[in-house]
Amino acid sequence: MKVYKLPVLSNLQVSERYWHMKLDAGLIEESIAPGQFFNILCGEGELPFLRRPFSIYRINRDEGTIEFLYLVKGEGTVQLTKVEAGEEVDVFGPLGVGFELQKGWDSILLLARGVGIATLAALAQEAAAKNVKCVAILSARSRNDLLAADMLQGFGATVIKVTEEDGTSDVENVKKLVDHLLVEHEVKAAFTCGSKRLSRLIQRIAEQKNIPGQIALEEHMGCAVGVCYACVCDVRDEHGISSVRVCREGPVFDLEKVVLG
Ligand SMILES: Cc1cc2nc3c(=O)[nH]c(=O)nc-3n(C[C@H](O)[C@H](O)[C@H](O)COP(=O)(O)OP(=O)(O)OC[C@H]3O[C@@H](n4cnc5c(N)ncnc54)[C@H](O)[C@@H]3O)c2cc1C
Repeated sequence: MKVYKLPVLSNLQVSERYWHMKLDAGLIEESIAPGQFFNILCGEGELPFLRRPFSIYRINRDEGTIEFLYLVKGEGTVQLTKVEAGEEVDVFGPLGVGFELQKGWDSILLLARGVGIATLAALAQEAAAKNVKCVAILSARSRNDLLAADMLQGFGATVIKVTEEDGTSDVENVKKLVDHLLVEHEVKAAFTCGSKRLSRLIQRIAEQKNIPGQIALEEHMGCAVGVCYACVCDVRDEHGISSVRVCREGPVFDLEKVVLG
């Protein structure tokens, strides 16, 4: 991982709350895996002092670009919206442990909520490149927030959308969908990001049906390189329960190991 100043190719508002940024990643020699993230300096001034972490949304190896999809939340992301095409953005990465598509996982389920869609989109892209069948349940407040649906469908994924707006995003309904899709698509592994509620659901179902899975966690981060311990979470291991750093040992963990509280 390194600090890079990458040229901004575009940085555009794509819905009421979301922005999409495309960077020229020609300078990055390291390989980048879905689920990994960059810690981005969001403003030129003193504030915000800390960089902000963003998952890779899309990796375009042929054209040497990377993309981010971000939700505008506070000072950092507001500052990021001010960056214009032609300027440079200061990114540190790639960081963390990404998703791993294991051998034999020829059909996968993605369950994403809100901005978790941004994190799982790159995995759908990788699945398509490896001829892995992909079915995705995307959950959001409103239809307007289901931004990656078209892109996932473009990768050949089957996409099911659930929203508060349509009254379809409650856990009971998502459970019915998951139960049905696991059988219909002969799913071999499940992946999730973006909601503790839905993560607990998929963790429970995966355990009952003996399906492996991975989860990308989001925690507030300080240094993003494992020094400050601001982003710890609990996992089950041979010692019982251990605290690990989301930035270093994660953000992607085995689904069955994470203690979701
Ligand atoms: C590994 C990782 C990958 C991420 N990938 C993406 C991504 O692809 N797209 C995207 O939009 N966001 C992503 N995030 C979340 C993103 O980092 C935060 O939304 C961003 O840091 C907010 O910064 P801000 O200065 O705009 O808001 P702040 O002023 O820092 O925060 C605004 C509000 O959001 C809360 N908040 C801030 N960070 C987090 C967090 N990590 N978890 C929960 N609540 C938080 C704060 O408590 C506050 O209430 C990711 C986070 C992590 C840890």
